[in-house]
Amino acid sequence: MAEIFDPASSLPEDIRLIRHTISEFVRREIVPAETLALKQDLRELPAEVVKQLQPRARKAGFWYFDTPEALGGAGLPTLAFVVAYEAAARHAFCFPDPGCGVFGYDLPNVLQGGTQAQRDKYLRVSVDEARQWFFAISEPGGGSDPARAIQTKARRVGNRWVLSGRKMWTSRADVAQHGIVFARTGEGRAGISAFIVDMPQAGLSCRPVHVVRDHSTTELLLDDVELPLDNLLGEEGAGFALTQKWLTKSRLKVAAQSIGAAQAALEIAVDYATVRSTFGALLATRQSVQNLLVDSCMELHAARLMLWDAAMRDERGEDARQVASMAKLYCSERAFAAADRAVQVLGGMGLSREMPLEHWFRGLRVTRIIEGPSEVHRMLLARALLGESALDRPRAAAAATSAAHTQ
Ligand SMILES: Cc1cc2nc3c(=O)[nH]c(=O)nc-3n(C[C@H](O)[C@H](O)[C@H](O)COP(=O)(O)OP(=O)(O)OC[C@H]3O[C@@H](n4cnc5c(N)ncnc54)[C@H](O)[C@@H]3O)c2cc1C
Repeated sequence: MAEIFDPASSLPEDIRLIRHTISEFVRREIVPAETLALKQDLRELPAEVVKQLQPRARKAGFWYFDTPEALGGAGLPTLAFVVAYEAAARHAFCFPDPGCGVFGYDLPNVLQGGTQAQRDKYLRVSVDEARQWFFAISEPGGGSDPARAIQTKARRVGNRWVLSGRKMWTSRADVAQHGIVFARTGEGRAGISAFIVDMPQAGLSCRPVHVVRDHSTTELLLDDVELPLDNLLGEEGAGFALTQKWLTKSRLKVAAQSIGAAQAALEIAVDYATVRSTFGALLATRQSVQNLLVDSCMELHAARLMLWDAAMRDERGEDARQVASMAKLYCSERAFAAADRAVQVLGGMGLSREMPLEHWFRGLRVTRIIEGPSEVHRMLLARALLGESALDRPRAAAAATSAAHTQ
């Protein structure tokens, strides 16, 4: 695509180099393997191919992008991280992990809030061996508002924790070696605790729940799952606070991945419009097609700059939760719109399983719901913008009512 639309010139030289090197790695190592997999009607890279490519990514310095170097990761600062993550996601099977895990998997950052013994036990080995983790917070009763919806209970019995309940939509629980399960040890937000689970775990079973993307989620059934006391992650009752502390990075990740996939979709649509003719002229000459492409180009440009701004604020140590929320919301929505327009430009081919567009279209639909649905991000941003007036029951009034009730 035309150079003028590439905002990389705004980036420092070292980050441009990272971006370029990862893009080359994706082009040289991942895309050919993926093209072969698509021909075999697969929906991900075969495990043996991922295993073959992982050491190459590691050698090139692109292993667990945001994990500190001391733990075996690349330790990229936030701006370099989002740029790298976007570049790594510009290929067909980029959901749920860019590179299908060739660059490592998502190491739940809440683990950093564990005790020293837990960090020593799990962090380094997970990065070295590319172990997968699941993160089970959502339940059948709701995922947008887990502080209220969590019903799974954990009770202390002698020298064990015993967990029972159900978790819903848990990604990769069927393949992971470890997981983090959130359960109620008391009332309210301060009554939610996080537990480390090593798989397979007696009493924990999972069944696939098929969704629109290529990878299933799972429903977990916890039937008196017994865990050692040491498996409590951080303090009792601190589970919810832990997720809040680490959510900026998760939001930025989804935003970067969405932009990567959507940019790839736009580039395919641009190429197609310049070779496909209908009614005696190229699609590229039709203003209605031009509008689709230009709107996507402009929105992805704006989305990317918003993402970079949120990343830079996080890197400077500012509280970037709200700008990260805005970036997640805007990037996932504009990316989905761009993928939809790209499908439209390609017509039937846009919907064909022989092209990557339909993967991105389905994968990007998911990004508008995971890590908080768009409406919940809008609610959080409205609270930041409007303060107390955005609350249906302002806090001061609620506190006064509850004080009156207790008198
Ligand atoms: C593919 C996939 C993978 C997932 N992976 C995981 C995982 O690994 N671990 C995990 O714990 N969870 C996971 N989830 C769950 C995901 O986080 C939840 O689906 C999401 O948080 C929404 O929860 P819900 O589906 O229960 O919808 P609900 O909470 O019932 O909300 C339904 C809809 O209501 C609207 N809504 C909700 N609250 C508000 C509000 N305050 N104002 C306005 N509108 C509102 C939104 O449009 C929302 O989409 C995954 C989900 C999917 C689809």
